[in-house]
Amino acid sequence: MSSPTVLVVGGGVAGAACAIQLRAHGVNVTVAEKTIFPRSKVCGCCIGGSGIETLGKLGRLEPTIDGQYSPVFHRIMSSAVQVNQWRGSIGGRTVHVELPSGIAISRETLDNALLDEAKEAGCEVHMACLATITNVAKDTIAVSMERSTGKQEQLFDLVIMASGLNTSGVAATLPWTESPHGPFGVSWTATCNELDSHVIHMACDDDGYVGLVRIENGRVDIAAALRSGSEASQQGTPADRVMKILARSEFPAYRWESPSKVLTTPPLRRARVAGAGRLMAIGDASGYVEPFTGEGMTWGMQSGIAAANRIGRAIQAGSVDDLCHTGHRWDRELRGLLRRKKFTCRVIANLLRSRLARKTVGSTLATFPKIANPLIRHLSQR
Ligand SMILES: Cc1cc2nc3c(=O)[nH]c(=O)nc-3n(C[C@H](O)[C@H](O)[C@H](O)COP(=O)(O)OP(=O)(O)OC[C@H]3O[C@@H](n4cnc5c(N)ncnc54)[C@H](O)[C@@H]3O)c2cc1C
Repeated sequence: MSSPTVLVVGGGVAGAACAIQLRAHGVNVTVAEKTIFPRSKVCGCCIGGSGIETLGKLGRLEPTIDGQYSPVFHRIMSSAVQVNQWRGSIGGRTVHVELPSGIAISRETLDNALLDEAKEAGCEVHMACLATITNVAKDTIAVSMERSTGKQEQLFDLVIMASGLNTSGVAATLPWTESPHGPFGVSWTATCNELDSHVIHMACDDDGYVGLVRIENGRVDIAAALRSGSEASQQGTPADRVMKILARSEFPAYRWESPSKVLTTPPLRRARVAGAGRLMAIGDASGYVEPFTGEGMTWGMQSGIAAANRIGRAIQAGSVDDLCHTGHRWDRELRGLLRRKKFTCRVIANLLRSRLARKTVGSTLATFPKIANPLIRHLSQR
């Protein structure tokens, strides 16, 4: 079978990882990204052991031999700040948990590096190009590609939705199984000389949780998931509420300048049918829980690689039928791939919404921090 034409909608971590892996299978890939990179994005900017391992495997079809990682892996690791401790303010206690591996890197640097790698691997990348699915037929998908120069309709054999939490243009094509609800995300960067480098700080209370980490340009990334709803919003602007959580925490009273550009997201919790026919969804576009365990980018890259490998297998089998049903099979495969990790994240985030649970967890971890080790090992595994 000749290579199908594949469009990846969205050039974030999931879309870029998928595009790189598709090129390894020799597939013709076009990526449409509606913004111009580097672009900022609501994110805590931390990647743990499992994500680092995934980055090392990008674009490889064979298992990675120790030390032989992808070129983009070396570029990202040399730009990133290593993190080796998680410091939490939970239930009135400060908790220190050692981390075996982890990095912090701005989304400007990370996403740009991954998309550059996709270009180098031979993907056709269109920046400032809004893709809108206009028709899903049995054997092709029609997409309107809108640039500043005008709109053009193109046909593709397969379309991969990697459009993140923003559903404009591709929303109606795959139904929700859990429509967006729950906390929303907030982030910005700031200077703060007092904050320790190499440490992820996280403060939790009734209004949500805030993560702080120093990134590669020396600035601090501030990212939070806050309660949504009208009652919660009466407590102030998202930035005010983040500052109040930090002020109520056990962390020192760091000095912050007022934020100049605060980014927010729609409600985070969602799930959808991740594929049908020739349409597949990956990363946040396929569903999200919330950022508590800091794995969204890893889930995005892993789902992107797995989707590309599924397409690669269908091409190798030479089966048009396989290709037509890729989406349906993908829905099942993706649920199996991320079910345990998403379940763990959901349980922890739900638990820590209770004041009593935060008090218990805070005092237990403050006395016996090693109790967290099995959880960290679980999160570091693929
Ligand atoms: C508060 C918060 C903190 C977080 N902290 C962490 C963390 O520390 N570690 C971690 O791993 N994860 C974290 N996450 C999760 C992480 O940010 C996401 O899971 C991850 O970015 C998902 O990647 P993605 O590629 O699916 O989507 P995105 O990174 O959002 O990329 C989607 C891209 O698609 C483009 N796009 C959208 N629609 C179209 C269209 N129609 N046409 C063309 N382009 C389009 C967008 O412009 C965007 O560039 C956090 C999330 C939140 C909200």
